[in-house]
Amino acid sequence: MSYVDKVLSDLIAKNPAQPEFHQAATEVLTSLKPVIDANPKFQEAALLERLVEPERQIMFRVPWIDDNGKVQVNRGFRVQFNSAIGPYKGGLRFHPSVNLGIIKFLGFEQIFKNSLTGLPIGGGKGGSDFDPKGKSDNEVMRFCQSFMTELYRHIGADVDVPAGDIGVGGREVGYMYGQYKRITGLYEGVLTGKGLTFGGSLVRTEATGYGLVYLVEEMLNNKGNSFKGKTVVISGAGNVAVYAAEKATQLGAKVVSFSDSTGYVYDADGVDIEYVKDLKFTRRGRLSEYTSHKPSAEYHEGKGVWNIKCDIALPCATQNEINEADAKALVANGCIAVGEGANMPSTLEAIDVFLNNGVLFAPAKAANAGGVATSALEMSQNSERLSWTFEEVDEKLHGIMVNICHNMIDRAAEYGMKDNYVAGANIAGFLKVADAMMSQGIV
Ligand code: NDP
Repeated sequence: MSYVDKVLSDLIAKNPAQPEFHQAATEVLTSLKPVIDANPKFQEAALLERLVEPERQIMFRVPWIDDNGKVQVNRGFRVQFNSAIGPYKGGLRFHPSVNLGIIKFLGFEQIFKNSLTGLPIGGGKGGSDFDPKGKSDNEVMRFCQSFMTELYRHIGADVDVPAGDIGVGGREVGYMYGQYKRITGLYEGVLTGKGLTFGGSLVRTEATGYGLVYLVEEMLNNKGNSFKGKTVVISGAGNVAVYAAEKATQLGAKVVSFSDSTGYVYDADGVDIEYVKDLKFTRRGRLSEYTSHKPSAEYHEGKGVWNIKCDIALPCATQNEINEADAKALVANGCIAVGEGANMPSTLEAIDVFLNNGVLFAPAKAANAGGVATSALEMSQNSERLSWTFEEVDEKLHGIMVNICHNMIDRAAEYGMKDNYVAGANIAGFLKVADAMMSQGIV
């Protein structure tokens, strides 16, 4: 059995009931085989065994009182996975599906994504099984305060800097920041995605979606193609989806869909992005309302968004939202490129379908790294007590995404896997972290 296969089989045995973590580790380690085989020093230093074991996993009780006076109890998580190249950095997810395995898959991915940005940030992730949907502002605030009352002792501007993810936007970050400051008395950049009046960075809200489109555009340009005139299918209707739609539209594409966990909208004329921003971010409504605004569009309950004919697909909702059949439907309909805005939205089988059919495939850890990269720019601004302009941050984000794109393309070619950007991104992200871990001894 090869070293990689042995590490994977031990990981699966030691971490039962964490299928998402198994999936993420399998994707990464399998594609690293050429590098691992060429460097026996990694095995001698048990590098992979250390890489797949988080430095620290924190689980805690989050009690809070709802508007009816009833006591509710949720579970909180923070997995501090790897600090070889910088303080832990990664979002917080509030969604009922959150469990330790999900946070570990996200934290593991984050190590390589953060490395790919070229910035000094380690990998971590956290969250809770709390569902903000349908809760009042006061309930969300009480939950966030209780969550931070435990989390504060494990984080800090030079230790671990959380951000948003599914279910955690500006509102939640604001409440958590207020509680951190109140408990510690510190006014420091301990969270990113903050409001602009208290240390937030311009472009952070747009960064993941914009960054996704910058990277996919560069990947297309590299093959003599672009977004211009293309039909784009986007899933999700949250932070990543909406700003990806905005940037793709600015580049001359037509975005024809959004989705949420109940259904999807198909608008052949191109979606009304401003309407969806107001619907989701201000009114916190559901996509099913879209057709009352625009009767010519279609709303369909359930899944099915990947059956819409398109040139480019940008999954921006959640993990494993594209399975093998969905990938085959996209290929059959002539899709030429897929860019992952969400984390691990494609199953391993779906990725194989894309790679085997010549679809240009930008994997999440490269394609959605713009969010965390801009978070790191927010940390820099907080450290120097300055705020950069929108144009400055946007230009830096664009430069970072272009670099990541070429890094993933070049590493794939260097290791004999031309146009396999999954391998290219994994190898590029891994090499920097591995070098730092080797230099720092057995820790
Ligand atoms: P939001 O909470 O803003 O939006 C999530 C969207 O996806 C909503 O439309 C939601 O619908 C839908 N969704 C969530 N879970 C499911 C599900 N199980 N099935 C179907 N639809 C679902 O989150 P973000 O836009 O921030 O995050 C989306 C993805 O992007 C995630 O995978 C996240 O990890 C990733 N990401 C986010 C970054 C960021 O900066 N925000 C950075 C890098 C990656 P509904 O409202 O019905 O739940």
